Amino acid sequence: MKSNVKRKLATRMIMTPSHPRWEEFCEYLAGPRACNMDGGVGESEGCDASTRKPYAREILKEMGGFDIPTTIEFFESHGGYCDCEILLNVAAFAEELASELKSSTRVSIQ
Ligand SMILES: [Zn+2]
Repeated sequence: MKSNVKRKLATRMIMTPSHPRWEEFCEYLAGPRACNMDGGVGESEGCDASTRKPYAREILKEMGGFDIPTTIEFFESHGGYCDCEILLNVAAFAEELASELKSSTRVSIQ
């Protein structure tokens, strides 16, 4: 680890389903190191069901460059109150949004 290399970012990114690394983020979050979602949808062995979202924070920190408090706020505004709910609710919101974009030109995110 090169801890002496500090990158100054003018603007920090927010992790949303439209971010190019969203799928990568979801894969980490669903993986054995985090929520361990292999048991199927809605069955998380790793999530502690707390609103602290320790895995999401850890993954965002590792990926680097993200505005974690604002990202967490975004997740909560879309039903992601714990780590596994980010996968269930925010990811579902992303799929809904994608199919809405396909079927209609009307877009309402808020
Ligand atoms: Zn959970």
